[in-house]
Amino acid sequence: MKYVYVANWKMYLSVDQEVNFCKKNDDALQKLQEQNNCTIIICPSFIALAPLIELLQKTTISIGAQNCSDHQLGAYTGEVSAQSLAEIGATYCIIGHSERRHYQHETDAMVAAKMVLLLQHKIMPIICIGETKKESDLALQQTQTILLQQLEPLFAVLRKSTHQDASIIIAYEPVWAIGTGIIPGHHYLESVFEWLQKTIATHLPATKITLLYGGSVDPTTITQLKKIPAIAGFLIGKASTDFEQFTKIIQSNNS
Ligand code: PEP
Repeated sequence: MKYVYVANWKMYLSVDQEVNFCKKNDDALQKLQEQNNCTIIICPSFIALAPLIELLQKTTISIGAQNCSDHQLGAYTGEVSAQSLAEIGATYCIIGHSERRHYQHETDAMVAAKMVLLLQHKIMPIICIGETKKESDLALQQTQTILLQQLEPLFAVLRKSTHQDASIIIAYEPVWAIGTGIIPGHHYLESVFEWLQKTIATHLPATKITLLYGGSVDPTTITQLKKIPAIAGFLIGKASTDFEQFTKIIQSNNS
């Protein structure tokens, strides 16, 4: 399995810290990627995108944004367009993160609009979905209903667009697992991923989908998570800001 590792640095680091992380670890990141035959995508703050793209130019490490506007261009103060991200050389962009859905009230329709804009500008979207509440018995059916609500607007816009054969990344992140140290049980996760694979393939037969898991991925939880064959990679928050922890996650074997 050629795993994809997305480092979502959120606003954990200042721009100086983000630059120093990459200055210090550029060669090591490249080696880590080569030796483990994986894809590493670093998603820093907007302001660090350009310096990091320049710093990591000599490597094959990819850089992604953590968000983009749902509008093409225009009078949207404080927003950053997909076009600008493409112009500076960002090749991935996280959209629909639960923190943005919660704090910025982003809707599924906005996430779908962002996805289309990113695809128009040849940026691979990393779309986050996930249920917001931990049901006491982790009822699978309830999770599927919530995930379907988040996925349907994506299916609808993709079917109507010229991007049906695009490649997209979907990160399943149970909100209650983000930053809590808790990960879902093995059977629950296996069922969610099997269901996601089937559902997405039925609705978008021509689209190439990479399914990631996100939520409390760290050197202790990764071994369990790598036992689930449908998981093609990981979206990692806190632990990705610590190079040693990030390395351990990538090097951890599924044994
Ligand atoms: C996230 O916010 O996308 C995330 C996965 O965070 P953490 O790894 O810190 O739980």
